[in-house]
Amino acid sequence: MDEIRITDLTVFANHGVYEEEAVLGQKFLVSAVMETDIRRPGLTDSLDNTINYGEVSQEITRFLTKNRFQLIEACAEQLAEHLLFTYPLIRRITLEIKKPWAPVHLPLDTVSVKITRGWHTAFIALGSNMGDKDAHLLFGVDELKKVKQIQVEKVSSFIRTEPYGYTDQDVFLNGACMIRTTLTPEELLDVCQHIEAEAKRVRKIHWGPRTLDLDVLFYDQEIIATERLNVPHPDMANRDFVLKPMAELAPWWGHPVSHKTMQQMLNELNARGEN
Ligand code: ATP
Ligand code: CA
Ligand code: CA
Repeated sequence: MDEIRITDLTVFANHGVYEEEAVLGQKFLVSAVMETDIRRPGLTDSLDNTINYGEVSQEITRFLTKNRFQLIEACAEQLAEHLLFTYPLIRRITLEIKKPWAPVHLPLDTVSVKITRGWHTAFIALGSNMGDKDAHLLFGVDELKKVKQIQVEKVSSFIRTEPYGYTDQDVFLNGACMIRTTLTPEELLDVCQHIEAEAKRVRKIHWGPRTLDLDVLFYDQEIIATERLNVPHPDMANRDFVLKPMAELAPWWGHPVSHKTMQQMLNELNARGEN
């Protein structure tokens, strides 16, 4: 990916754990490597198509002088997120903040932190089989939209499906949405579970009735297997209520394990069903 770089921008500010740092202030050196597509501004020679590094430098200075943090870790984390939200053309940013005057009373050049943050593409499955199912799915989408770190890019149609697993229950309404997020996969799961709880989901039977079920289907092309999280979501090859909305949203999207596209997985499931 192409990059625009700002190196060692000097900002005088009052971050630090010690009182003397808060009172006296000190020098911070900020470097930013912004990943962005330079092809368009390169061909059009127009400032409108690129990230204005002058503006970004001003914004970094403003952010670090307006806010006060104890840790440069917090400075870096929150500044990175702020820049990602403010300049949509930045896909990923590596920020380094150096403290040349860190009060450690030993000879050193600088103390610094360096982080990389960016936008991730994820897909969330929506399901409901209790009460006003349409309203529950729409509530799920609206709540996702309210989260600052999430941009809902596309929502699929909602489809009716016969119950899966535990079959003695009402039909399901299912859908999915495609999002852009700066959250980690675990944070995204936290958000989903919080929204489920807000929808007053009461869980008695596994695969049983629920007002709202939100599953993380994909997170970029990552493969995750932890106690709390399996991504890609398991068993989707057998679930047309997952593959149909996925094939509508992104037929071209590849499964990181099988490398099959969503359209291909749906076609294969349909073919199996006809046998
Ligand atoms: P299924 O996951 O087979 O569709 P379910 O949605 O009914 O079943 P839940 O009771 O909603 O299952 O979730 C059980 C646990 O699954 C959650 O507590 C969560 O930690 C875990 N889990 C693992 N991977 C995921 C994922 N990708 N998305 C959501 N939850 C997940
Ligand atoms: Ca589920
Ligand atoms: Ca679930």
